[in-house]
Amino acid sequence: MRIIRTIDAMRAAVREARRAGRSVGLVPTMGAFHEGHLSLMRRAREQNDLVVVSLFVNPTQFGQNEDLSSYPRDEARDAALAENEGVDVLFAPSAAEVYPDGFATSIDVSGITDVLDGASRGAFHFDGVATVVTKLFGIVRPDVAFFGQKDAQQIMVVRRVVSDLDLDVRIEACPIVRETDGLAMSSRNVYLSPEAREQATALSRALDAASAVRESGERDGERILDAARRVLADAGITPEYLELRDALALNTVTRVDSDALLAVAARVGAARLIDNHILKGDR
Ligand code: AMP
Repeated sequence: MRIIRTIDAMRAAVREARRAGRSVGLVPTMGAFHEGHLSLMRRAREQNDLVVVSLFVNPTQFGQNEDLSSYPRDEARDAALAENEGVDVLFAPSAAEVYPDGFATSIDVSGITDVLDGASRGAFHFDGVATVVTKLFGIVRPDVAFFGQKDAQQIMVVRRVVSDLDLDVRIEACPIVRETDGLAMSSRNVYLSPEAREQATALSRALDAASAVRESGERDGERILDAARRVLADAGITPEYLELRDALALNTVTRVDSDALLAVAARVGAARLIDNHILKGDR
């Protein structure tokens, strides 16, 4: 596996692969790999000749009071894990390489970024995501890029950018990988004390409870949400948001007639955690 740090070298590697008629798959990440990341790499490996994993803790998607400086970083461990999955290139540029002096462009996606994490973290967050992902697509020019359903709104934002800017890349969403007790894997889970780790299981249990209510035939949004609210309250968690929105445009829904995104974000101990389920509608 090669570790590439410059945009020029990354472009050259892709150019060579393309000349040989090889397909290119990209897995964008911020590192601190866990099974969620590795599942995306495996999917990319199955489908592509050249697999590129980007490792870049993107400063522009972090707010002033967020965890940019403490975000877990261990490139040597990440490189070993990626190599073990058969990844061809780990693209690990510096912040100065990605955002050189004079950098002045930002991609602002409207509408779907006004709610959930866009409202909770601030509009800058998805601007930062959209901008860096678009740059990665420009640098790597992948045939397909792999993203986790864990960040459901992020996938919607990326799909919007790809569609609106006519980018020639297919976006593949991969299922959420969970710990055995249901907690969605996240690089931020390392912030959890043993007590908070236990408390954090309430997020997935709350989503499970709501899904069970939906699966019993209930369509009323408030009744479905109430099941989740009860689990969170019992665990002493006040969510930043717990919302049911239509899975296509993120409009609020009061009834689950078509597919809906049930999304939660909460501070648990020192970590801000997110999780979601798709609740199936009938159409
Ligand atoms: P991150 O390094 O947290 O930015 O995540 C990189 C990619 O891995 C994103 O597409 C995430 O959605 C995805 N990802 C993170 N956690 C999980 C998980 N538990 N299951 C599946 N994909 C995940």
